Amino acid sequence: MAKIDLKRLEKFLRPYRVTKGKGFKLKDHDPGDTHGIKSEQKTEAKALLARGVEWLAEEQEKLYAQDRWGVLLVFQAMDAAGKDGTIKHVMSGVNPQGVQVTSFKAPSSEELDHDFLWRCMKATPERGRIGIFNRSYYEEVLVVRVHEALLAKQKLPAKLVTKRIWQERYEDIANFERYLARNGYLILKFFLNVSRGEQKKRFLERLDRPEKNWKFSSADARERGYWGKYMAAYQDLIRHTATEHAPWYVVPADNKWFSRLVVAAAIVESMERLDLHFPKVDAAVKKELATARALLLGEKR
Ligand code: ATP
Ligand code: MG
Repeated sequence: MAKIDLKRLEKFLRPYRVTKGKGFKLKDHDPGDTHGIKSEQKTEAKALLARGVEWLAEEQEKLYAQDRWGVLLVFQAMDAAGKDGTIKHVMSGVNPQGVQVTSFKAPSSEELDHDFLWRCMKATPERGRIGIFNRSYYEEVLVVRVHEALLAKQKLPAKLVTKRIWQERYEDIANFERYLARNGYLILKFFLNVSRGEQKKRFLERLDRPEKNWKFSSADARERGYWGKYMAAYQDLIRHTATEHAPWYVVPADNKWFSRLVVAAAIVESMERLDLHFPKVDAAVKKELATARALLLGEKR
């Protein structure tokens, strides 16, 4: 496969990649941005995406064979931003045995009996694999922040629930990610940034098309009422948790073909930097392989 032009990829990703959160402003990020790629060029963009998907499938084999690095991809977004479709497309070429997708919903009573990272820690991928979090511990500073009644259900001792709690959660999350990074995990976090108008359009589509009805829930429509609070929470969490070793990608998500391209490009770029390769076979193993070959060839039938 053709060599990856890292410089070009890096330049393409620069507007979307956040590694230093300080001063980050969500309003500087347009959900409709397509990096100047016109919709007439969509076919080219799709071909590029297909190449990225193919490349990823090959790299994943090396990741698995090498068994040193692990990859954690975190997806966060408002409803109908396209998380599920993005995960499906970008991972479409990868061997299913090498990927683990975990969707985090409202916590169960067992989960509420533990600290908030517990369920996510259990789901981190093994070395050699790609783990995908469809929602994550970031819900703890999103939905739980927007609806503080959820916090009351978390069974925390009252004196630990102070106005510093969100700041403390950012710190705990950042420490957890640094810990994972130091243990050999590549962590990439994607915020699929859809606009309120585009979300409305997609909700209406879900209502208009019978085969999409199942995806619609009136609770999702109610959450639109808290849009501003959610956006403030996203901005704040990105400010506090964007780092070099666990960057956020603020992905323009009003055009699905474009958001998929950005996500694939980000994964390709970062995995290329891991410099993955198949393990080298040493002389002793080579000898063993030669013996095995001779044995097989010497068999009568
Ligand atoms: P998605 O909307 O991601 O495609 P879904 O519609 O299949 O998934 P839902 O039943 O909507 O699944 O579950 C996700 C819901 O769980 C979201 O509303 C999310 O905010 C909520 N959730 C996730 N984590 C938590 C948490 N820690 N505390 C409270 N609610 C949470
Ligand atoms: Mg939902």
